[in-house]
Amino acid sequence: DVFYQELPKVELHAHLNGSVSSQTIEKLISRKPHLNIEHGMTAIGKGQRRTLDECFQVFKVIHQLVDTEEDILMVAIDVIKEFAADGVKYLELRSTPREEKTTGLTKRSYIETVIKAIQQCRSEGVDIDVRFLVAIDRRNGPEVAMETVKLAEEFMLSSDGLVLGLDLSGDPTVGHGRDLLPALQRAKNCGLKLSLHLSEVPSQLEESELLLNLPPDRIGHGTFLHPEVGGSQSVVDKVVENKIPLELCLTSNVKGQTVPCYSKHHFKYWYQMGHPSVICTDDKGVFSTDLSQEYQLAASTFGLSREDVWKISQQAIDCIFAPDNVKQQLKQKWIDLQPQVF
Ligand code: 5GP
Repeated sequence: DVFYQELPKVELHAHLNGSVSSQTIEKLISRKPHLNIEHGMTAIGKGQRRTLDECFQVFKVIHQLVDTEEDILMVAIDVIKEFAADGVKYLELRSTPREEKTTGLTKRSYIETVIKAIQQCRSEGVDIDVRFLVAIDRRNGPEVAMETVKLAEEFMLSSDGLVLGLDLSGDPTVGHGRDLLPALQRAKNCGLKLSLHLSEVPSQLEESELLLNLPPDRIGHGTFLHPEVGGSQSVVDKVVENKIPLELCLTSNVKGQTVPCYSKHHFKYWYQMGHPSVICTDDKGVFSTDLSQEYQLAASTFGLSREDVWKISQQAIDCIFAPDNVKQQLKQKWIDLQPQVF
């Protein structure tokens, strides 16, 4: 439906290596034929499902394909252009800096390369404002988390506003957020915005309670926060009182089987409450989707009118990490693009 494609959109939850399209995967495979990686190993097609654990195996395969500065530059440029082509006007891309001894890739050059891709798209006039959130993979523990925060801090000060914050992600069944608190607290104190994956699986309630005290600036998924699915009212109250927006990824949660079907997605709970809920893709490549499709799915599943959909995309502007002048520019863009009748 062209309405969803033309709808100006804000994407706030997109992992770089999960967003790689099949076209770009083809290019990567042809660069590294010796790895014997096939297409079916990097994406979950229509109607297919995997356990969350299997999803994390997919990321490992993609990481094998993306292990040089050259790969990262190509992947980031392709991903940015694909979001732009899908009508995304503002994108916060997140990625975990990796070092690769065999190719000379360092965490620092990883971040520099993503920034270079953003700048290159900008100089080519691609119609999208892109920012970067440096990601912590919880699997790597507290020392690496602290090291990542320090790097992010440096780039926040030197990247002309391109690096805005920090993401906490990675396999939710590994490690405990309590150990990462010093790193996250430091990030917050130095002015990095925080987007934390919280309660992606049911066993994380205690961790969520703890991390909500920071408090984070946005929540990724938050699938099991509310009492209907074993969460708690006090946790919900904390999210509501602090007006912490949720980044919600319908297809990702259905394909990763943390949500049984679209109609049972927690988008319904939070949206009905009037709580800021931003529709996002998570991993458009791995889950074979795009942001227009996610908006369309939300509309068809929850009976939203086109005007409702417009409002959701417009209200996402208030949830971005970029400063007020950027919000104002985007709001003007939305006014300019708004249809006379829906
Ligand atoms: P990258 O950070 O390498 O650009 O993107 C892939 C990484 O993002 C994964 O290895 C994982 O750490 C994180 N990631 C992607 N999707 C999800 C998700 O749905 N949940 C969590 N917790 N982490 C994710």
